[in-house]
Amino acid sequence: MRRTRIVATIGPASSGEKVLKSLLEAGVDVCRLNYSHGTPESKTELYERIRSMEASLGRPTCILADLPGPKLRLGRFPGLVALKRGAQLNLHCGVEEMNDASASDLPVEYAGLSAELNAGDPVLIADGLIRLVVNEAPGVPSGTVVCTVEDGGPVSARKGVNVPGTMVDLPAIGPNDKAAIAHALEAGADYLAVSYVRTPEDLQPAIDAVKAAGKHVPVVAKIEHPMALERLEEILDLADAVMVARGDLGVEIPLEDVPVAQQRIIDGALERGMIVIVATQMLETMTLNPRPTRAEVSDISSAIRHGATAVMLSGETATGNYPLAAVQTMAKIATAADQGFRTTDRRPSALARFKATRSVAHAGVELARISEAERIVVATQHGNAARLVAGYRPTTPVTAVSDRIRAARRIQLLPGVESLLIEEYERGSQTMQAAVETLVEQGIIKPGQRVVAISGSPKAISGATSTVRLYKVENDGSIRGSE
Ligand code: PGA
Ligand code: MN
Repeated sequence: MRRTRIVATIGPASSGEKVLKSLLEAGVDVCRLNYSHGTPESKTELYERIRSMEASLGRPTCILADLPGPKLRLGRFPGLVALKRGAQLNLHCGVEEMNDASASDLPVEYAGLSAELNAGDPVLIADGLIRLVVNEAPGVPSGTVVCTVEDGGPVSARKGVNVPGTMVDLPAIGPNDKAAIAHALEAGADYLAVSYVRTPEDLQPAIDAVKAAGKHVPVVAKIEHPMALERLEEILDLADAVMVARGDLGVEIPLEDVPVAQQRIIDGALERGMIVIVATQMLETMTLNPRPTRAEVSDISSAIRHGATAVMLSGETATGNYPLAAVQTMAKIATAADQGFRTTDRRPSALARFKATRSVAHAGVELARISEAERIVVATQHGNAARLVAGYRPTTPVTAVSDRIRAARRIQLLPGVESLLIEEYERGSQTMQAAVETLVEQGIIKPGQRVVAISGSPKAISGATSTVRLYKVENDGSIRGSE
């Protein structure tokens, strides 16, 4: 069985009804919608399409809305432009669209860039594939920066632009992010990912927006800037989940430092019992080829063995030639890694938030381990209790029970957790007993086996998590341990 979750970016190559369905059937747990591309409104249809597949899949779908963030991008221009080594290239800053863009003139959206660059600065395009060096910068916004191409290659509209080492003077949440957040919350996104987090304060506007909307959407901090590594502990203390965003990180810090940073981020997440997604270029060659390299297979497997709870596909599924093969390949690698490597129960030491719930979750995970329970059943209203249980990476499989589909959808990002929708009874013990009975009926738990139930009280789902019970299923199918 696979515990590790698969996040796949849905883009032009995967948003059609048929492909999308095949990807979900092949094991995509979470659909990532990238708000860097297209208008927020253009995504509405995709939300509806994804949700409409829940019925035939027989499980909830999960949508992660990824905010654009203060990432610099080229403006819009038609077609593909081939940049040649040694050529001079003028970057026209503050230009959103340029119909006559060419290998000598390209638009850059951000007007301030021409004020921030100095002669000799490197400028990287498309995750560092293309490298320029600045010859002349005007020192004022909305100017033209004259560069020389050091490493050439093809570029297209809206490719990312990185200037390593500079702290770009843009807020983490700008107007585009605000529009994206408003759309995502309205459309019912299950997670919000904040791009280019540099400080813990960068997370606050997203957290506040979720609260103001009366929602319980967890916030994912994308670690892709050196400043975020400096303030990693504080960022992890505030975020609900974290992503190792290796695309930009690998441009902003030396490439050889990325694996070490990845492990540091994973360890920080493990300490806090957090969900951690490892992202970008995991099966990069499968964008063009039907088979991965040995190195890619090894990268996914080691990310999981090092503690990642989810692995992500980006261009492979968004724009690649083999989206389905990429998902199938990733699912196979993740399953093999999960089966071949027995995770030990982790005991998060940093009890930053949800202290009481976390302690009860820990007690339940410990009880399951000591009593050799077959399954942990956790009642969850918004998904938090289930997320905290999953944070301990229990070796015991987990069923999260809830009475709301929104919580069940969020469960799709939690490793080794399945969801079960159930109605809530007057008393917590009744709800949990009904949940265990359902699992017995479904054959998931068999006579003679034990189950640990973690719930609220007096209400199991809507009460504050405070209760741990041990049940045993008798040979006649009755459940002992219930009142
Ligand atoms: P992006 O984030 O794909 O939104 O840039 C992931 C990364 O940088 O790795
Ligand atoms: Mn990025």
